[in-house]
Amino acid sequence: EPDPTLRPELLPEDTDRSLRPQALDEFIGQAEARANLKVFIQSARQRGEAMDHTLFHGPPGLGKTTLAQIMSKELGVGFRMTSGPVLAKAGDLAAILTNLERNDVLFIDEIHRLNPAVEEVLYPALEDFELDLVIGEGPAARTVRIELQPFTLVGATTRLGLLTTPLRDRFGIPTRLQFYTVDELHEIVARNARLMNIPTDRDGAREIARRSRGTPRIAGRLLRRVVDFAIVDGNGSISKELADNALTRLGVDHLGLDGADRRYLRLIAEAYQGGPVGIETIGAALSEPRDALEEVVEPFLLQQGLIQRTPRGRMLAQGGWKHLGMAAPKAKGQ
Ligand code: ADP
Repeated sequence: EPDPTLRPELLPEDTDRSLRPQALDEFIGQAEARANLKVFIQSARQRGEAMDHTLFHGPPGLGKTTLAQIMSKELGVGFRMTSGPVLAKAGDLAAILTNLERNDVLFIDEIHRLNPAVEEVLYPALEDFELDLVIGEGPAARTVRIELQPFTLVGATTRLGLLTTPLRDRFGIPTRLQFYTVDELHEIVARNARLMNIPTDRDGAREIARRSRGTPRIAGRLLRRVVDFAIVDGNGSISKELADNALTRLGVDHLGLDGADRRYLRLIAEAYQGGPVGIETIGAALSEPRDALEEVVEPFLLQQGLIQRTPRGRMLAQGGWKHLGMAAPKAKGQ
């Protein structure tokens, strides 16, 4: 049943919340993270204590929010959700913290974007479940200490490197999420198609999985678009041929790269003969913010061996030349 504390505007793709896995055993992939979480959850339950603070990091759409929600369900505690940029003032965080019930999970998305003044308030809350609030101004100002209920902070970030060290150190359970394998995405697509009641061939589901950039969120989005084509142009079911045609019309190539990915690769190949070229230069040339390139575009291209990061900038890797159907210039000696 819907949780009123969820912020729906933060969950744009969740028009079909029923597809979101609700339990660790329903969650596909991330085997290592899942096995560890299972132990920590069970231990916290047996002790009747709040689970240790947990940090999920990795590219967008890999299941950080989903895992946080599953944690609260399996711990049998309440779930509150907010995000770094939304917590503008210390008082915003204080209001949330003082409303938590014993052992609740507080999920803060984009935690690398917390305002430093808010972060200061968070430290004693995480360590001692205490809040030091300054009341009044000037000579009349005084500090009051407020006791909090024990709680579990679950932080999520796409940019581990942007977290301050003191904040990072306060997470007892740092967990890196990985891109999903085609087999795992295949399972996810097949499960979602089943839940949506859309007849789907093995090869049809696999084609969508192969072109989902290692990311369940993208798999979900592509499946919904392929379903649209199946209903309007086809007979309502998903074959490999239908999936292939639909994805090609959507501009998704056989590796799962979209237009933005290909523009990035082509820029390095054509304007910079394969690089190295600085990220700022790439951002300016593509009119894309540097953050978006680093968080969304580059991780998958790196994982696929299409580009390399060097101290002098980004370079096209052998796989990148091959994907573009171009020959690497000899002199570069890559
Ligand atoms: P993040 O918080 O890392 O950006 P989310 O948890 O919001 O990612 O997941 C994005 C979408 O992908 C959601 O719709 C979610 O239901 C789906 N999803 C994520 N991980 C899985 C998984 N392991 N199995 C099935 N669906 C998943």
